[in-house]
Amino acid sequence: MSEVEESEQVLFQGPMFGRETNLKKNPRLVQAGLIPAKRMISDALSRRAHSIVAEIKGPRLAVRFVVDGIVYPAGTFPGKQGMAVVQTIKLLSGLDVQSRGEPQSGGILGEFNGQEYHLLVDTSPVKGVVERLRIRIEDPKVSFVTPTETDFPGSLKTKLQTMSSPPPGDDALGIILSCGGAESGATSLSLVAMHCMDPYLYSVFNFADVGGKRLVNVAEPDDEPGLDLEIKLDRIIRKEGDAVYLGKFDDPQQVQLLFDYSDRLCFFGEIGVRKPAEAVSQLIDWVGTDKVLSGLKAVISQKLIRRLCDDCKQAFRPRPQLLKQLGLPRETTVLYRAPTPPPDDDLNAPSLEELCAECNGSPYHGRVPAYEMFEMTDEMKEFIVAGGVDAKAIRQQMIREKQLMLQQDALRLVVNGTTSLEEVKRAFTPPRGVQGKRRRVQPQPRRQQ
Ligand SMILES: [Zn+2]
Repeated sequence: MSEVEESEQVLFQGPMFGRETNLKKNPRLVQAGLIPAKRMISDALSRRAHSIVAEIKGPRLAVRFVVDGIVYPAGTFPGKQGMAVVQTIKLLSGLDVQSRGEPQSGGILGEFNGQEYHLLVDTSPVKGVVERLRIRIEDPKVSFVTPTETDFPGSLKTKLQTMSSPPPGDDALGIILSCGGAESGATSLSLVAMHCMDPYLYSVFNFADVGGKRLVNVAEPDDEPGLDLEIKLDRIIRKEGDAVYLGKFDDPQQVQLLFDYSDRLCFFGEIGVRKPAEAVSQLIDWVGTDKVLSGLKAVISQKLIRRLCDDCKQAFRPRPQLLKQLGLPRETTVLYRAPTPPPDDDLNAPSLEELCAECNGSPYHGRVPAYEMFEMTDEMKEFIVAGGVDAKAIRQQMIREKQLMLQQDALRLVVNGTTSLEEVKRAFTPPRGVQGKRRRVQPQPRRQQ
């Protein structure tokens, strides 16, 4: 692991989730593990990592950082020290240090450069590996739950607003869901969709555990725990509530009930499939065509694409042939790409890393979403009634209707200079192993000086 100055060290401020810990009871472990654990986490924070994965493999603990969705090797610890690092992090999270055979979850409150972080810790036993440690790093101040916080496109906001917010006096009705693969941000996206409703005109209730995220002008029902969902929904209707956020739509029986209520309330939530067309097909399977046609309004998904570093991206004039091939507007005069590395034989030329302090030659900084949205239009209803119920057919119909598709929206980010064609190609190439394709090795970002 690289050395980090003392002033840049993370401060551990205690376990999260009401757990307790006593470092004094394990002085040997703390002595062996605390300093390297601090160094590892400080290094990850200074490189803007959003996850750390550490596994004991053979005689060493191998550490990887995930920055903007890309995995980078981040050094190793000798076995004994590595074990001490993993156990110290468990201790700091208030987890059971003795138990290694069961998965455990907890968290540590951390402070780095005057800013607070949530370090969400998961440990799990893995075959062939003693124990795998995963730390997700969250900035509690950035909750990404409103259209403004996520820079949600105005056109999508207006569409969702029209669907969920009828003229005042009328009832808000129907179901609007998000979906997406693991770590696609589908939960945040469903909250953004909900916040597209005007929070001052409509009364919105939250029924889900949103992991401490601060919702804007959304009420929590003051029901006793364990109350039947039907009774809770009836109470909301009596209170003249308009919409309910429900979290996961994963229980077919409950989903059936929600569709039954979708003529009196508007529902927001998330369904555990990757693509909107798959979500529609799944819902038809669970509750039948008729209910889906009358209750479902939209399903939205997103894919996070890396943002080109503003400080070192290079403009170029695209050839008309390229624009035509990609279906981009003919009048596009400038696109951006990663800076060209200096020639190998020019030993005096500064490296990309030296040229840009902002991204350290990565040359990406942060991520932005591209979107896909299924809309239940009249044509779509006719198509489904005529038997178009499988995901592939629904997706084809979305394309025919020119509904917003992920790859097309990703090209919007290329045209407006946010990202590069190369990054879009990378993001849509299945990871190695899925089709045997190898991903290009990316330069590894270094921590900020
Ligand atoms: Zn840069």
